[in-house]
Order: sequence, then structure tokens, then C-alpha cells
Amino acid sequence: MKIICIGRNYSEHARELNNPVPSEPVFFMKPESAQLRNNQPFFYPEFSKDIHYEAELVLHVCKVGRNIQEKFASAYFDGIGVGIDFTARDLQQKAKEKGLPWEMAKAFDFSAPVSKFIPVTQFPDLHNIRFGLFKNGVKVQEGNSGEMIFSFEAIIAYVSQFVTLKQGDYIFTGTPAGVGPVQIGDRLEAFIGDDRLLLCNIR
Ligand code: MG
Repeated sequence: MKIICIGRNYSEHARELNNPVPSEPVFFMKPESAQLRNNQPFFYPEFSKDIHYEAELVLHVCKVGRNIQEKFASAYFDGIGVGIDFTARDLQQKAKEKGLPWEMAKAFDFSAPVSKFIPVTQFPDLHNIRFGLFKNGVKVQEGNSGEMIFSFEAIIAYVSQFVTLKQGDYIFTGTPAGVGPVQIGDRLEAFIGDDRLLLCNIR
């Protein structure tokens, strides 16, 4: 499996990192080894001094597809969860300055904690899903799928032009404003609506 991630999908977050609001989706990938499941703790890696959280809605891909039309895209995911796109912001900033790829900053081991997936049939409106992140009990991020620049369907249509989607892939759909650093000892809790779906302790 692979993890496809969308960058800059909420205009306020693009602005907080001084990035332009994109006219087409920006995507990158994390490998299978980036997965962190079952509320396992995240161990702060030695290669960074500035790991940031980015809470995101995550799609679970349920069938193979390429060149998927937007009007059919909703058939290609069957679950929605919440995840954290851990980012080594110091390494990412260096890579950006040099025009180099982001893999070191984004694709490292266990950089993608993901909750269980809730069946899409349990959501009354896929374009109005509220989610949020608490750090040590304080709300630091909140977003709504309705605020995304590119919808779930638009993301699937765009990405599948380049990369075949396969059953079991995850799609991280971008983070709202409020990203920030974590320290050893922090406790992250991610919610969809009022349900805490993900706990991640930083060790
Ligand atoms: Mg992200």
C-alpha cells in the first residue's frame, strides 16, 4: 500500500506557511513504513529538532482505479479516518530553499499515525465533516471537509491521472491552519465530530 498526501488544501494553512494558494492539488507520498496504527506512540526522531503535527482527514481507498472521473470518484473510497502528517519542518524548509524533494521531511518511518476508518455510509454529508486536534487537552486545529480547496472527489480525479489507486491505499487530504511543533511528552488527540478517534503520545 501507499499513502498519498495532499499539501496546501486549506487556504489559511497555505498562508500560515507563506505558500501561494494552489490552482491544482499538490501531492506527495509516504511509504507503507510510515504507517502508525492502533494509537501506538510516536518516537521523536533524532534527525529533526522541529517535528510538526498536521491533522488531516484520511480516505481509505477500496478499489483499483486510474484516470477516475470526478463524478465517479466517490465509489473509490469506503472509509474516512483522521491522521497526522508528521513533518520535519526544519528538513522541509531546507529542502524547499534548495528546490529539493520533501521525502526526508515527510516520508520517514511512523510519520503517518492513522485512526480506524468510519464507513462513509455513516456520514450524512461528506462535504461537511468537522474534525480537530487537541495537544495536551488544548484545541490547536479545527477544520471541515467543506473548507477544502479540492474536494475528496477532485483529489481522486487529479491524483489518479498520475498514480493508480489501489485497494488499501490511504489519502491524506490536507491540513487546516494551526500546525505546530510537538515535544517529547506531548499528547495528541484527533477527533471527527465529537468522537476521539486517534491518540498519539510523543515519546
Ligand atoms: Mg499535510
